[in-house]
Amino acid sequence: MRRVLEHVSTWMRSAGLDVRLDPASNVIGRRSSSQAGAPALVIGSHLDTVPNAGKYDGVLGVLLGVAAVQALGCRRLPFAVEVVGFSEEEGVRYRSPYIGSSALSGRFDKALLDRRDERGIAMADAFRAFGLDPDNVAQATYRPGSILAYFEAHIEQGPVLDACDLPLGIVEAIAGQSRLRVAFEGHAGHAGTSPMTLRRDALPAAAELILEVEQQARCVPELRATVGSIAVEPGATNVIPGVATLSLDIRHAEDEVRSKALAGLLDRAGEIAVRRQLTFRVVEAEHHNAVPADSQLTGMLASAVADAGLEARRMVSGAGHDGAIVAAIAPMAMLFLRSPGGASHHPDEAVHLGDVRTALDVILRFIDKLATSRLPAGER
Ligand SMILES: [Zn+2]
Repeated sequence: MRRVLEHVSTWMRSAGLDVRLDPASNVIGRRSSSQAGAPALVIGSHLDTVPNAGKYDGVLGVLLGVAAVQALGCRRLPFAVEVVGFSEEEGVRYRSPYIGSSALSGRFDKALLDRRDERGIAMADAFRAFGLDPDNVAQATYRPGSILAYFEAHIEQGPVLDACDLPLGIVEAIAGQSRLRVAFEGHAGHAGTSPMTLRRDALPAAAELILEVEQQARCVPELRATVGSIAVEPGATNVIPGVATLSLDIRHAEDEVRSKALAGLLDRAGEIAVRRQLTFRVVEAEHHNAVPADSQLTGMLASAVADAGLEARRMVSGAGHDGAIVAAIAPMAMLFLRSPGGASHHPDEAVHLGDVRTALDVILRFIDKLATSRLPAGER
C-alpha cells in the first residue's frame, strides 16, 4: 500500500496537485480554486482491493480524477478540486469496509482500533506501524460545507451495461443491504440407526430456505437475495446434521421492499422449522439503508452523458461504494463504466479503453456544468 500511495502521489503531483496523506491513510491531491476558501469538488474512489482481484475496481476512479485535473490545465474554476484515493474501502484485513471514507466523513468507529487481524495485530498497531497515529483519525474529518460535491467513477462490476452495449451508466442510488446469519437447530444422530421419520435434521430445512430465497427474489423486481455460505455441524458423512447456519444477503434500492422481503423470508424459515420440529434463530443481523444520489448532480451528470452523444442510462448500484459514506456529508453522484463480461473481484476484470476516454470526456463536461451552476455548498 505504501508503494501504491507513493506511485499515485507522483501521478497527482505531475498533474499539478498538492498531495498530502491524511491521518486515515487517504491520499489527497488538491488543486486550489480561483476563489479563496471556496468548497471543493471531491473526485474519489479507493486504492485497496481484494485478494486475487482485478486492476480497475477503485483505482480507475482515482486515476480518472487525476486525468481530469491534468486535462483542466490552468483553467480557473470557482471551486477547488480534490482527488482522493481512499484507504480500506474493501477493508479485507480487518473485515470492516469504508475505513478511509468513514474517517473523512466523520463516521469512523473508534472501537475498530481494537479489532485484530488474522495474525492478531490490532488496527491501532497497524496504524502505528504505518507511521500514523491512531488517536488522530478523527482529524481526517472534513468540516461541514467544505465539499461542494462528491463524484465517483467506478466500474459497474456487473453485466448490465455490457448486455445493453452501453459504455456508461448513471447511478441513481446505492442499494440498501441486510446481511444476516441464521441457524436451524435440530438434533445430531447416527446416519445408520435413526429412521427417516424420527430425525430432526437441520440441513434439509436450510436447503428448503435456500430455494425459497431464490424463488422469492425472482418474484420481486430488482431484488437480490443470496445465500453465500453454509456451515453444518458436526459436519461428518455419517452424522445427521444437528445445526445448519447460513448467511443471507438481501439488497434493494428501496428500503421498504428489502425489509418486506426479509420479513417474508424469516416467516417462511419459521414455518419450515415448525414443520420439521426444529428451532430457527437469527444469529447476527446488520442493515444498511439505501443511499440515493443527489438529484441535481445526477441531472448534471445525465446531461453531460447526453451531450457526449450517449444514452443516459440510470441504474442502481448493487455494490457498496465510498460514495455511499461520503453522501452523509456532501451531495454525491456516481458514474459507472461498463465491465466487459460483468467480471469483478477477479483477475478477468477489464475495461474498454474507449469507455475510459468517454468517461473522462463526460467528467470534464460535468465539471463545466458544475462550474456554471452557481450552487455553492450549503444551498443544497
Ligand atoms: Zn470498488
